[in-house]
Amino acid sequence: MAHALYPGSFDPPTNGHLSLVERSLDVFDRVIVSVAINPGKTTLFTLEERLALLVECLSHLPPGRVEVTSFSGLTVEYARSVGATAILRGLRGSADFEYEYQLAVINRHLDHEVQTVFLMADYQWFFISSSTVKEAASLGASISGLVPPAVARSLKGKYGG
Ligand code: ADP
Repeated sequence: MAHALYPGSFDPPTNGHLSLVERSLDVFDRVIVSVAINPGKTTLFTLEERLALLVECLSHLPPGRVEVTSFSGLTVEYARSVGATAILRGLRGSADFEYEYQLAVINRHLDHEVQTVFLMADYQWFFISSSTVKEAASLGASISGLVPPAVARSLKGKYGG
């Protein structure tokens, strides 16, 4: 059984994140989507909100194969504790590459038995990030079609749209 951990901020989850989870099920038996708790990072959505949004957005996927959790501390340690042998990350392009490469190298240094596996962003979601979606929503732009409906509703609630 191949288990992967998909860590991220998910502030908020977008269709890009969703597409990655859906496609990862072609490769992994089980994927744990986990919100990384980072006290140094200011987020628009609380941890509880992000967890609830992820649960709702992933509810169409087989429950035995996708789990939503949160964690703090080292990603590799959490991966090991949940029996994941891979850390799943997404790549949109060269802008992601440098950062993701650094993370992958550090994680490999910390634990040689956990591999980082990258899936390329689907072309529809190549330019979609949580930040661009938040910025567009804050300026009153319609972001439906870029994020799951539950996230679009929550963003409207945050920005009073
Ligand atoms: P982090 O703060 O850990 O980068 P994010 O929630 O921004 O958290 O991203 C989590 C992972 O999902 C990262 O590997 C990121 O590259 C990937 N990702 C984000 N948006 C997309 C997208 N549109 N398509 C594919 N992967 C994505």
